[in-house]
Amino acid sequence: MQRPIKAYIDLPALTHNLLITRHYAPNAKIMAIIKANAYGHGLLHTAHALRNADGFGLLELEAAICLREAGFRHPILLLEGFFSTRELALLEKYRLSTVIHHDEQLAMLTGCNHRELDIFLKINTGMNRLGFASERFPSIIKQLSGNPAVSQITLMTHFATADGTTDNTQFHKQLQVFDQITGLTAMPCTLANSAATIRYPEAHRDWVRPGLMLYGASPFAAHRGEDFKLKPVMSLTSKIIAIQHLKQGDIVGYGGNFQTDRPMRIGIVACGYADGYPRHAPTGTPVLVNDLRSRLIGKVSMDMLAVDLTELPNISINSTVTLWGNGLPVEDIARAADTISYELLCALPTRVELEISQEESQSSATRICVESK
Ligand SMILES: *Cc1c(COP(=O)(O)O)cnc(C)c1O
Repeated sequence: MQRPIKAYIDLPALTHNLLITRHYAPNAKIMAIIKANAYGHGLLHTAHALRNADGFGLLELEAAICLREAGFRHPILLLEGFFSTRELALLEKYRLSTVIHHDEQLAMLTGCNHRELDIFLKINTGMNRLGFASERFPSIIKQLSGNPAVSQITLMTHFATADGTTDNTQFHKQLQVFDQITGLTAMPCTLANSAATIRYPEAHRDWVRPGLMLYGASPFAAHRGEDFKLKPVMSLTSKIIAIQHLKQGDIVGYGGNFQTDRPMRIGIVACGYADGYPRHAPTGTPVLVNDLRSRLIGKVSMDMLAVDLTELPNISINSTVTLWGNGLPVEDIARAADTISYELLCALPTRVELEISQEESQSSATRICVESK
């Protein structure tokens, strides 16, 4: 028998979240970020559900090519750009847009005989991860504008603290640096991730680049997706595969660091850290069993975890368990495990099968995508 763990992917929720994003940024084009296998949700069916976005952004060249080959005609941006002249040739072949963020990429562009490259010039305004130093902006723009291979330039930066809770200083500093150096150009701009899309309309500009919010989770630690009318897209579910009746003083799981202080009934769930559930989730982390709230007990092992059924007498073997998703925000699990929802979603391993909801009208693209993960 197949293990009962599944990640259910709610495609209408994706489409709904895209509409919410439009509501936040009505005047910007939306570049839906689908890196890391669409944040763990699976590439092609996700892209298809988000086909009303104006473009897609991701890092993985193969995934970008896969989108083209599946028939997507949107602008597709490689967020780290290309790493070799061989890849540069593939950009032209598949009409992929590219970030340019360091000198080696500039050197590969100079003297290349490609045509019609769509460039996103990344400027480091203070995050200090990728991008050219702001002082170099005028000379690089001059160089790129004079390059016959380049047909379009969009200016880009990324914020370090748009998801911060109280202090806006760093955000405003970065925005100011960006506006100061680019102020005299009429080129299109893209600045905002999910957090800035929700929180800073002044950063919307020509393109917003939402990722996490499309998957229904909140980029702000103090909030949940539902606070912004977002719907969770992924629900990680499994089943109770064993039940144990414990006496007072019994232990549960590896290390024995959970010991009962009274007789208890516990359920063993087919889901462990090899299924993407965080090993650091402590006793007490919320779990839904047949839509009733329960709690994790003891250490999470590789393939299993234990839940408290003492107060849930009607739960039996095969009862459905929701680890996160519908009815149990992934943000709550992330908080309990001292991580962020991004990490939980992206870390979904391939051994967890995706169960893709049907869209209202099924298209061939959806069907193809169901098999790919
Ligand atoms: C991942 C990424 C995004 C999306 O970030 P979210 O916080 O998920 O909205 C936007 N821009 C760039 C450059 C990224 O790498």
